Amino acid sequence: MAKGSNAPRQPLRVKKPAKAASRSAPATGEPLARSAGKVKTRNTTKTFGQKPSQRAAPAAKSPKTRAEKLTVAQVVLERLKAEYPDAHCELDHTNAFELLCATILSAQCTDARVNMVTPQLFKAYPTAEALSVARLEDVEEIVRTTGFFRAKARSLVGMANALVDRHGGEVPRTIAELVPLPGVGRKTANVILGNAFAINEGIVVDTHVQRLARRLGLTREADPIGIEKALMPLFPREDWALLSHLLIWHGRRTCFARKPECGRCVVQDICPSAGGVE
Ligand code: SF4
Repeated sequence: MAKGSNAPRQPLRVKKPAKAASRSAPATGEPLARSAGKVKTRNTTKTFGQKPSQRAAPAAKSPKTRAEKLTVAQVVLERLKAEYPDAHCELDHTNAFELLCATILSAQCTDARVNMVTPQLFKAYPTAEALSVARLEDVEEIVRTTGFFRAKARSLVGMANALVDRHGGEVPRTIAELVPLPGVGRKTANVILGNAFAINEGIVVDTHVQRLARRLGLTREADPIGIEKALMPLFPREDWALLSHLLIWHGRRTCFARKPECGRCVVQDICPSAGGVE
């Protein structure tokens, strides 16, 4: 730890703040900066348009050192685990092939919308072999409402052909084999490995993870690859897949892009963006 830093000098006492109704008051958990005896807060001027009741206590000091970031990461993980004990992938699927199809369809589309079309898709094409010989226009018709349906249909059929040609119709279990598949990038590959195979090879960085990682002061990187590299050393590997779900759930339920509800956020006392500063 850097000499003279404001990092905690004693183990952080993790205590979950009180639930929603009382969260508009400062959290009851031991604040990161306060636990070090040197609280640094600042007046914030941007409030994301929140009502006073939605605003949080003044923002915590942004973690600078690796030790400070590790402490914030640990608290965030524990608090969000307690807040969202059922956090999971919200794309409906029963196997790796279905999850791969659903994840390809989820680009620029909500999980709820994807879940509306996948039952018909999986019924018509339950395997890679079946999808590989599908007529493109039939697949387009099924996935039309997910947006970019022509490109997505091409990716689905192309992906199925690649699975049949190169992997015996099975979904491979490495990033190196997944990323070359049509419609599959690193984010999708991480989704499949983490959720279908329980393999934590990387961290899924979607728009919510991107936003929260920056707001929590865990990284200043802007691109998903940089954010993933910054997050990986801060969290236990066995929690990487769950971490994405927790951050996504928090982003969808509290830390909204435009108007985060900091006043009822379980990590407001350690968040440098609480109250409106990003
Ligand atoms: S994590 Fe989001 S909702 Fe929570 S205090 Fe920080 S900015 Fe506000």
